[in-house]
Amino acid sequence: MARDYDVVVVGAGAAGLAAALGASLAGASVLVMEADKQVGGSSRLSGGHFYAAGTSVQKAAGILNDTADDMFEHYMTLNQWLVEPSVVRRYCDLSAPTFEWLKGLGVEFKPEGVYCSGVSSVARGHRPEGAGERVVEVLYGHCEGRNIDFVFNTRVTGLVTDDEGRICGVRAGDDVATCGAAILSTGGFGANKELLGRHYPQAAKADNWSWYIGTPYAQGDALAMAKALDADIAGHDRGLLLVTPGFSRDLEVLLPGWLVMVNSSGRRFANESSPYTVLGGLIEKEGGHAFAVFDEAARAAAKPSAISRAYWVNDVLAKQADEGRIARADSLAELAKKIGADPKVLEGTIARYNADCEQGVDSVYFKDPTAGMRPVISPPFYAAELRPAIICWTGTGLRIDSDTRVLRRDESIIGGLYAAGETVGSLHGDRYIGGGGSYGPCVVFGKLAGEQAAIFVQSLTA
Ligand SMILES: Cc1cc2nc3c(=O)[nH]c(=O)nc-3n(C[C@H](O)[C@H](O)[C@H](O)COP(=O)(O)OP(=O)(O)OC[C@H]3O[C@@H](n4cnc5c(N)ncnc54)[C@H](O)[C@@H]3O)c2cc1C
Repeated sequence: MARDYDVVVVGAGAAGLAAALGASLAGASVLVMEADKQVGGSSRLSGGHFYAAGTSVQKAAGILNDTADDMFEHYMTLNQWLVEPSVVRRYCDLSAPTFEWLKGLGVEFKPEGVYCSGVSSVARGHRPEGAGERVVEVLYGHCEGRNIDFVFNTRVTGLVTDDEGRICGVRAGDDVATCGAAILSTGGFGANKELLGRHYPQAAKADNWSWYIGTPYAQGDALAMAKALDADIAGHDRGLLLVTPGFSRDLEVLLPGWLVMVNSSGRRFANESSPYTVLGGLIEKEGGHAFAVFDEAARAAAKPSAISRAYWVNDVLAKQADEGRIARADSLAELAKKIGADPKVLEGTIARYNADCEQGVDSVYFKDPTAGMRPVISPPFYAAELRPAIICWTGTGLRIDSDTRVLRRDESIIGGLYAAGETVGSLHGDRYIGGGGSYGPCVVFGKLAGEQAAIFVQSLTA
């Protein structure tokens, strides 16, 4: 049957661009439909870090023995096996080959840019030169001169199927582009309050504290389009929330080591310098909010640092206390009452912490003493509320198999429908694997979806 294109890709972020290129390299004609006026989506705004095991750049950095098996074991253990093993396994297996492919296209990764990006002791985060924007430009550049057309300012609204329920077109308003297969890569839904409420209640709960750092086009359009075909949705209430005191809308990912973090009873519950990949989840377990406690000496000494320029700085803290956003009191007992904590618990917590400061060791949570641990002794005392509320990306999405085919609720495959990137929900668990754990799979599954879609279309014509 004559069709406009073999494959239509919906959305041109890292996943969509890798998909378009993957499909084209596998011999398909491709149309990419993009809602924005340019390619890139959240991928363009992103650090573009790529989480992968067994790469040439790791080896150049002296990490000689990392493997897909080790990455899989860590990924599954961290997430208590509450993710789809077959999809995670495919990501782990393809992370290094796809990374090398991206590097071969011209994205530069230096050995000094390899780092421990999550709670693993193995460095698997790979920082690209030029961040996510450069990755997008390199992928887009390679699409030029190939059998790939782009249309911009075109928001796709639906999918068209034939009598057998297979994809045969993609709709934007009244226009339909006919095709043999479609790839959904519209990104996440961080900019859509209604979908946050439905699929990511942790983020919605943070209410007016919460804000999304990505593209305004992250509306979760693919979810509605695929759900109309009975597609399954996986990974309820998953994504990455960064912790913030909510003073302003500045993106800062870590807390300074001089803060003492307590729960609503006034008890410490975690290392304040925990990686951002787990900190939000730790606070969520305490009811979704916590308090950062410090004293006047710490406040006065707080200078802009590599960790914080917008929040944990002396004059900002004084202003926030004056305006009532930070509780201030002359005694710890009074401070506890102001934040609704138990005075005895807070006093005991701080006494134990101060004793640890004197010994130069965090005997309970092992915070690095060189992170700036200091006793809380000089009044007035302060408590700033913290919430995991900055939405970085969303992890609920379409359920796929390990070939990126979109699954219905009854486990059957929607013929000709593929998904990749933040649109997919089968990969992320309650804990973020580490920096690069979203961008990496976008490129891995984007390329794979393109290749699989091209093979599928060839099978239709064979
Ligand atoms: C500031 C920032 C920093 C980050 N840093 C990192 C990092 O270092 N490492 C990491 O792993 N992750 C990081 N992330 C997350 C990661 O970048 C994203 O998860 C990833 O880039 C998403 O890629 P994507 O291709 O799925 O979606 P996107 O890049 O958002 O692309 C989706 C595209 O689809 C388009 N679109 C949406 N709806 C439609 C429609 N109906 N029709 C047509 N087009 C549509 C959008 O306009 C967009 O261009 C970061 C995110 C942000 C915002």
